[in-house]
Amino acid sequence: MWRWFEQVSLPPESTCDEVLLQLSSSRPTSVPTLESVVNLGRSRLQTLLKILEVDGAIRAVKGGYLLADEGWTYDRDKAERLRRLRREESDQMLAFADRPGCRLRFLREALDDAEAEDCGRCDRCLGAVRTTDLDPELVAEAGRHLRAGDVGIEPRRQWPTGLDEPKGRIKPDAQARWGRALCRVGDGGWGAMIDEVLTGDRLLHEDMVRAVAGVLKRWDWEQRPGWICPVPSRRRQGLIDRLCSGLGQLGKLPVHPALVRIEDGGFQADQANSAHQVANV
Ligand SMILES: [Zn+2]
Repeated sequence: MWRWFEQVSLPPESTCDEVLLQLSSSRPTSVPTLESVVNLGRSRLQTLLKILEVDGAIRAVKGGYLLADEGWTYDRDKAERLRRLRREESDQMLAFADRPGCRLRFLREALDDAEAEDCGRCDRCLGAVRTTDLDPELVAEAGRHLRAGDVGIEPRRQWPTGLDEPKGRIKPDAQARWGRALCRVGDGGWGAMIDEVLTGDRLLHEDMVRAVAGVLKRWDWEQRPGWICPVPSRRRQGLIDRLCSGLGQLGKLPVHPALVRIEDGGFQADQANSAHQVANV
């Protein structure tokens, strides 16, 4: 996570250059336009623009950003100093959690307080020991609860801004319907296990197929589905085939691979914003 913060708060030189290349000193460039050219998510792009603005390289105006200083260059020494400082800070955070001794004293010493002394009140000073022994029945119940929450996927109603075409509202008959997912990657239910399946560290287990079947069963269909159509994948075709055939057997549904990939573009997962994702389809 620290590495992530570091990347966001200290954007690499190449990314800064990429953004600056798009800006002119006379005509403002909007954030959506930048988004269609630079492959960064909205919030990361905005953080980068803010950093460049504070540094005097660009200026926020009505309608977007202008180049404020054409002679601006990336200060590599400053970036390196900041990077080192951030690393030291993250090491201190880890030390705060692991190092023996009074916690308040540690903080005061980190802030150069010459009179820092043991506080007598923190868990270390009191010798308090926290245990992680939990009632297995309670843990199992919590697990069941976390695994029963289906995740709804809301259909998009607008095309991403910044594109010449298509733009505006997506016609109702062209909109996707609501979708559902078993979990979010990394959530407390199926998340961790599915993450391992996706990275190839774990095989798809029958429990997971049953869990997906459970999501389908809880769905308030107008009409029960009649067949299963896998979406082709270049990275996880085997996994998708196993899931579809498992679901087919459970629900007594035929699997028809009706969709075929006809073009080999970049991976959709590598596109950081909606404009890039649409252009990649
Ligand atoms: Zn203490």
